[in-house]
Amino acid sequence: MAEAQRTDKELEDLKKNSSLSFKTIEFPCSNLPLYCDVSTGQVRPYVPEIFRPVVFHTIHDLAHSGCRATIDAVRRRYIWKSLRKDCTIWCKTCLSCQKSKIDRQTKSPIGKYPLPSGRFRHVNLDIVGPLPICCGFTYLLTCVDRFTRWPEAFPLQNQSASTVAEVFIFPDGFPDSEYRRR
Ligand SMILES: [Zn+2]
Repeated sequence: MAEAQRTDKELEDLKKNSSLSFKTIEFPCSNLPLYCDVSTGQVRPYVPEIFRPVVFHTIHDLAHSGCRATIDAVRRRYIWKSLRKDCTIWCKTCLSCQKSKIDRQTKSPIGKYPLPSGRFRHVNLDIVGPLPICCGFTYLLTCVDRFTRWPEAFPLQNQSASTVAEVFIFPDGFPDSEYRRR
């Protein structure tokens, strides 16, 4: 990295930036000193282009944090001009993140239902329960007419589709049925 810094034009530009303060720092693993910005109180090496993906993945792949957290973590430790832009693109295109993260919650618009045209043209049904059992009944079928908002409730022995249908069509009891309700 120190070697790549020697021929880096972007680094030359950054050195002229007055808000940054570059110092060369010796590391025991290299015979060349590394240009680092120390303006933040932190030693931040300048990263030449070819090392940027490596730096990004070293930090991002630890926990696959979101864009903002990754940018903050990289920016605290390293510096280059397009750091924010590059990290944003790499975060968005990270395959592991795409496979396992939902980064955008879809907001469905409020449903629009046509107004009912008359009484009992459209009845909302719901099942309440299971409730404490009483005379063999443990569920409640609630029916509300959308036009008049007339409410009715009927006890149910179970919540099967056929029971619900029978009670809804014959609330006083299915003719010749064992399920008499009133
Ligand atoms: Zn990721």
